[in-house]
Formats: sequence, C-alpha cells, structure tokens
Amino acid sequence: MRRNRFISRARHQADADTLAKLARRLSESGSRIEDRLWERRLVELVNDRLARGFGDAIEAALEELGSEHPRAYDDLADLAESCAESTTVEIDGKPHDALLLAIPLLAWSRYRLPATKLSPTVVENVLAQVVGHLAPRGARCAVADYLFSIDQLPESLGEVRDTADQLFSAAVQDGRHKVDAKSLREPIAMLADARYLLAAIVVAQGSPLFHWQQTGVDPDSKLSAMQAFREQLDNVVTPVMTGCKFRTLPPNAFHAALRQGDRELREFSLEAAIFYLKLSFDLSPSALQATIAPYDEKRERSAPEIRIGISRAGEDDLVIEGVVWPLLGDDEERSVEEIEAALRRLGVVRIVAHAHRFPLEFCDDCGAPMFPNAAGHSVHTEPPDEGEEQPSTPLH
Ligand SMILES: [Zn+2]
Repeated sequence: MRRNRFISRARHQADADTLAKLARRLSESGSRIEDRLWERRLVELVNDRLARGFGDAIEAALEELGSEHPRAYDDLADLAESCAESTTVEIDGKPHDALLLAIPLLAWSRYRLPATKLSPTVVENVLAQVVGHLAPRGARCAVADYLFSIDQLPESLGEVRDTADQLFSAAVQDGRHKVDAKSLREPIAMLADARYLLAAIVVAQGSPLFHWQQTGVDPDSKLSAMQAFREQLDNVVTPVMTGCKFRTLPPNAFHAALRQGDRELREFSLEAAIFYLKLSFDLSPSALQATIAPYDEKRERSAPEIRIGISRAGEDDLVIEGVVWPLLGDDEERSVEEIEAALRRLGVVRIVAHAHRFPLEFCDDCGAPMFPNAAGHSVHTEPPDEGEEQPSTPLH
C-alpha cells in the first residue's frame, strides 16, 4: 500500500534530519509549554510522513539519534509510536479520535500454539467485551478476525499506521476487520509465546477514550473493568486455545501492549518450561538444576539477553530445556536476581549463575538458541529421553 516508494534519497535524508533536530530540541526543553510547541511541530511532520507512506524517514531519524542522543531518541520514538497507533478520522464531517489497541495473551502448549483466523462468533464476542468493558458509551469499536503471533503483527511505523487505518475504517462500518491471512508469515514454534488480538476504539474528538474516563465514573473502576474484561475474554477465546494454558493480559495501546507482552512473557516462559518437564517427563522442580548466563555480542548490534539452561540435578553437561530472557533495557544484575527468585518460587533451588558473557550462539541446523550448562559451555538442548540407544547429538 506504500505510495511513492521512490521518494528521492536527498528528500528522505532532509526529512530525517529535520525530525532529529526537532527531537533534540524537544529533549532539551525544560517546560511543558515549550514541550507542547516542539511536540506539535513533530506530530504534524510525523503524521504527514505516515499518511504519505514515508514512515522510513522517521525510522532513519531514530537511527540518526541512536546512541548519541538517548533522550531525543526516546522522545521521538514515543511520539512516532503514538502517531502510528492513533489518528484523527472524519465521520459525517466531524473529527474523531481513533486508537489501535492490542490485547496480549500468554500461552504455552506441548502442541503447536495457535495463530489463526477467528470465527465470526469469536470476533462478535471479543467485540462485545471491548464495547462492554473498555469503550465509553457511544464509541465505535472494531476487532480484527485473527489471533496474531508477534512476528505476524505490523512491525514498521508505516505498517502499524496501515493496520490502524484498516481497523478504524472497520470501526466506522460494522466493527469487523477481515485480515488477509495469506500475507502473514508462519510463526516460529515455541513452547511458550505471546499471541495478540487487535481492536480499535473511535470516539468524538477530545471525549473519553475509555469507559473509566467518563465524567461521573470513578477512575478506579478501571481495575474492575479490566478484571471483568480479562475473565470474559478467557471464556471467549477458550475454543481457540485448545490444548494451551493461557493468560490474558490487560489490553492497552498497541505499542505499550506489545512491550507488556514481551516483559511478562519472560517469567511465563520459565514457568512453562518447568511445568512442561513435570508434565511430559515427570521431572519435578527439585530434580532439576538451572544455569543462568548473560549472552551478548557487541558487533552484532543485537540486544543482550540472559539464557537459562535447565538440566537434571547433578548433570553438568546435558541441557534438557532452555529459556531466553531478553533484557528489554533492564539492568543485567537485577535481572539475574529476578530470574533466581522466579526459579526458587517454582521450586528449582539448584542454580548456577555464570558471570562471564557468552556469544549469542544459535544452532546452524535448526536455528534454536544454544543454552548454558553448569560446566560453562553453550550447548544444544536435548530432550530428556532415557533410551540407551539414544544418540548423544540432537536430531534435526
Ligand atoms: Zn539444532
């Protein structure tokens, strides 16, 4: 859908420079009044570029600010994300505020996790929960008829805006957005992962976006509304989540919900691994040991993460299951403490933590991450099968 993909390089660079310049001034501002002025100019520019399909200029400005100007980077990233997921739409000549929402679900299963088209009944029921628990009176809402994996969701700012626009149009019509499933890539199979529903709320400009923002409604009623929404949604999606254990997280604006999903998925994945070993191989947490190690690669510009190798207690070489814990900007030392505490809560008390950094290694054959063992090496996981004739190397 990108219009005019062949924007000249010079024009693109000029755009990126202007955005970066404005973002730096915004990050230096010391008052709300000055903030607002820079923000207004940035919002106008960002919205214009998004509407014309030139989202790349914004990504280039972010690249330019990169590590040199972290505050300006954060300011521009915040603002650009917010512009991509929300906009003004005209309905009968009147301006309306529209927001794209995501509803994260964390799930794990011994079978393949669903990423699938939703039946009209499920869409209808999800829409009823959005209308009933989240939206204010008189709002127009929409739901996409697909349960997405993270790699199926729109990624660039321009893609987010395109998806948002589609849901906003659906909200103005009958509230059901039909997703072209053929264009989506196949998700990577994981024991535990996040799934997302997409929704939209459209209200008259300047009026409350959520039920609990309305005049005369207690702002704290948000808590019970969220609780009710999550309980009802669990019921609604149960037929889609057969064979899975899952948990619905609070819905939020698109980018905030994705961040929350990533964050909560970490401990959820650790729990899933421990439950899985108990359920499938009758290995209780007390019969396990965990090895924690930081993985990092400066050259690759990839984000650092902590990997956790799980072995039978006393087995220092063989890793039977592994969990990746991305740092997501968190402090490494604190994260190791957090992981240790989570393991103890789950009943795993034998823990080895390596201080030295491991290179971010993946299996050449299957692409699976390598995990640390207690002996201090990065190894491929091997399922805990007892058979004497089992080969000692993983099968691909
Ligand atoms: Zn492999």
